[in-house]
Amino acid sequence: MSESVDRAVNAMKEQIDAPIASYFSSCVHCGICADACLFYTETGDPQYTPIHKLDLMKRVWEREYTFAGRIKKWLGLSRNITENDLTKWETLVYDSCTLCGRCSLYCPVGNDIVTMVRKMREAMAASGHAPEGLQQASKRAIEIGSPMGVTLKTLEAQIKHAEKEAGMEVPLDKQGVDYLMLLSSAEIAQFNEIIPAVTRIFHEAGVSWTLSSEAFEGTNSGIQIGSSDIAAELIQRIVDGAQKLKVKYVISPECGHAYTALRWEGPNLIGKPYPFEVVHIIELLDQLRTQGKLKLEGKDETRQTFHDPCQMVRRGGVMEQPRNLMNMVATDFVEMTEHSLMGWCCGGGGGVSANERAEPLRRKVFSKKREQLEEIGVERIVTACSNCRNMLEEGLEDNNMDEIEVVGLSEWLAEYLVTSSPRAAGDDS
Ligand code: SF4
Ligand code: SF4
Repeated sequence: MSESVDRAVNAMKEQIDAPIASYFSSCVHCGICADACLFYTETGDPQYTPIHKLDLMKRVWEREYTFAGRIKKWLGLSRNITENDLTKWETLVYDSCTLCGRCSLYCPVGNDIVTMVRKMREAMAASGHAPEGLQQASKRAIEIGSPMGVTLKTLEAQIKHAEKEAGMEVPLDKQGVDYLMLLSSAEIAQFNEIIPAVTRIFHEAGVSWTLSSEAFEGTNSGIQIGSSDIAAELIQRIVDGAQKLKVKYVISPECGHAYTALRWEGPNLIGKPYPFEVVHIIELLDQLRTQGKLKLEGKDETRQTFHDPCQMVRRGGVMEQPRNLMNMVATDFVEMTEHSLMGWCCGGGGGVSANERAEPLRRKVFSKKREQLEEIGVERIVTACSNCRNMLEEGLEDNNMDEIEVVGLSEWLAEYLVTSSPRAAGDDS
């Protein structure tokens, strides 16, 4: 066994805990999970069957932790893991899985396959078998503070721009306010219209909030590459930033994995509870709606749909809120045939979009979204994740469907905002 294989096998052994062992032992090999995964449905290639993506870890489990497997090992009948196996399974767990969680819902025995993929990624990353793109993104996140290399200087420039557009101050490092708003790299660098949009909405709704110069980035590449240590360090930065400003709530941005990392995994990663609550921006907007603080006017007759970001909707449960909000202004809102809990992912989540090697496969599996959109014939797709937004724009362009507009929900709602006359900068009265 080479040193590299040895490291990978040991890393997999470390990741096989009681839940993983029980998932492997309860799998009835029915193959139903294949029909849940767009990498299988759009290619017909059996290697993309979700449970097969874990086969390498299963081999380790059988050989090391089952009676029959130990006997086989003793008799020299076990299948050895090779360098070639590691190369192949690296592409299976990183390039052909968006961590969307659809397969976990399909499995009749309740195997949480997405959790298994996460564990397998932990082992692969620990043994140095992770894609270059994700390794670089994680390095930038730790060293520069953002996986895309977005710096505070960039944020400050975008804040100035947003202040001009919104006609009011965008608060930065304001102590003692209720909410700390996080952004994703893509929202700062690319879809920066989100900043004036939330500034105007919060102003009208009377929400006291701020951005932080020390904790502005919500994206968590530690989750994507499969490194709990990196994920924890990035979460701790947010916790420190929030504590410094003494906020009561931290707002997760329109970014799927930022939400999963912060809302569901963060306290376990850092080993202690947060001194604040986490709320997704869409949850907060819906709360403001129910409190009568989000006042919108005008109706939009464009035929439009909502693309469900997997981490926010299926894995995070923020399912009804975007629909409540869209229905405030859209008169022709149509659902894709499979939506909400059973929505199909954009093909680029879970770090797939940051992995250049995966690009041809990712573009191929967009055919599922294309079919869904062709079926309902919409002019606009609204979504609430900047990565989904990127993937949708790119996929539509590839398929000559770029007449369909793609927008982020928060910024789209801001277009219908009932506005009072802008207050002076910094006036919270
Ligand atoms: S999590 Fe999604 S992409 Fe990954 S194997 Fe399951 S269905 Fe496929
Ligand atoms: S659906 Fe569940 S039981 Fe069936 S093959 Fe997939 S993981 Fe195994």
